[in-house]
Amino acid sequence: MAEQEQWMQQLQDVGAYLEGHFELTTGRHSGQFFMLARLTERPWILAQWAKQLARQVHTLGPLGAVVGPAMGGIIPGYAVAQELKGVRMIFAEKGPDQTMVLRRGFRIELDEPVLVVEDAVTTGASVTKVIEAVEGMGGRVMAVAALVDRTGGQSPWAIPLLSVVSVAIPSWIPSQCPLCASEVALIRPKA
Ligand SMILES: [Zn+2]
Repeated sequence: MAEQEQWMQQLQDVGAYLEGHFELTTGRHSGQFFMLARLTERPWILAQWAKQLARQVHTLGPLGAVVGPAMGGIIPGYAVAQELKGVRMIFAEKGPDQTMVLRRGFRIELDEPVLVVEDAVTTGASVTKVIEAVEGMGGRVMAVAALVDRTGGQSPWAIPLLSVVSVAIPSWIPSQCPLCASEVALIRPKA
């Protein structure tokens, strides 16, 4: 637990973890917000996070590729792949009908073991689409690795969800938000 607090402190120090009253992209409100671009803008700090994930990933056996969803998964995915020596880094992009697709000549071999990397997992919606894209090309997704697991350890998938920091962050629909009720100013953090 103490170790988790140190990682959280690091996020706070670089402005990647904020406390206040936030409107999430889902429209829900929360008192806490992760802006992980403030972490990934510092490669020398991100490298420590990538090493921590790579240590956990080694238990999965050999991997062929890391796949990250654009935008959030690209930089952390690259940092993790760099720790894994000889593992390719691929990114998935928005495709037709709310899917994620691999473009730019990216290929997954049949039965190739793949790790999906994302900056933060909340509902796992975009990661689920990446898993579908990888499996659709014949790959095997062994685990998902995130800098921050916002589910508090409740992996939305049958495969493991690895993370550096795992926290359960409460959020509310606006009509039930206690911060709205106490008239705290609302922030749209990514604007
Ligand atoms: Zn609110």
